[in-house]
Amino acid sequence: MLRIAIQAKGRLNEQSIGLLSEAGIGVAESKRKLISRADGFPMKVLYLRDDDIPQAVAMGVADLGIVGLNEVAEKNFPVERTMDLGFGSCRISLAVDRTADYNGLDYFRGKRVATSYPNILARFFAEKGIDAEIHTIKGSVEIAPAVGMSDAIFDIVSSGDTLISNGLVEVEKVFYSKAVLIANPKLDEQKRRETAQLTFRFNSILESRGMKYVLMNLPQEKLDEAITILPGMRSPTVLPLAQEGWCSIHAVICESQLWERIERLKALGAEGILVLTLENMIR
Ligand code: ATP
Ligand code: MG
Repeated sequence: MLRIAIQAKGRLNEQSIGLLSEAGIGVAESKRKLISRADGFPMKVLYLRDDDIPQAVAMGVADLGIVGLNEVAEKNFPVERTMDLGFGSCRISLAVDRTADYNGLDYFRGKRVATSYPNILARFFAEKGIDAEIHTIKGSVEIAPAVGMSDAIFDIVSSGDTLISNGLVEVEKVFYSKAVLIANPKLDEQKRRETAQLTFRFNSILESRGMKYVLMNLPQEKLDEAITILPGMRSPTVLPLAQEGWCSIHAVICESQLWERIERLKALGAEGILVLTLENMIR
């Protein structure tokens, strides 16, 4: 039976449980549990700190894990990156004192930089040929410059508010992260099949996001033109209406194209346009 590791509590916990639930897999909220059996899929769930997930998956304690790419890259354990999961986006950036005279990466030569991501930073500096002192600290990296522990920081940034309130300014965006599904590279056949079932469900969910189901009535004579505007999954569905000379046309459209397409269809004479949310899209 597959074992999947998810974050016990924190920023990725709720969305990991949410994605599993959309995939028809019921998972207990962690609370004090370390492991529990899922409903709706033959799977056990391990609740871990996100830092420990790459190692747990590399060692085979868990077969799969849901974790930020930042932790995967930092820990550098041998795991397969199976798929991106569409949440948990953030970036890790270099930030310096607001009053510093920042003039590009050379600024960091000989400087002390505090971070919880020493490996990602060391790789970046090595690539750029910058010789700096990297100080690893676990929490509250953003206060390090104010208390004299460092000249700069390398930390996760989302809105930037924490930086501002600590008198810092983001100067280099180094690493972009998002939640990913990782897998142990040595899964047996059976577990690979089960993983494929799981990623099939996840992919259907992700693909349906941002897609709309659109239906409308249209004069029959405009049908050919309308079909060129509405792509559909294979081609749009066309049904006759009771009133002669009219038909109903149904298709799936990407949200970003929705309004432009609808305006063109209205201009063709489409009426009674309904736009519905898609829950799942199985290709
Ligand atoms: P744990 O107790 O599991 O070690 P943590 O405190 O290390 O938790 P969280 O703050 O819960 O971690 O963040 C978990 C992950 O969420 C991060 O590693 C990152 O991939 C992602 N993330 C997304 N947005 C942010 C953000 N604004 N700040 C921090 N992490 C973010
Ligand atoms: Mg952590």
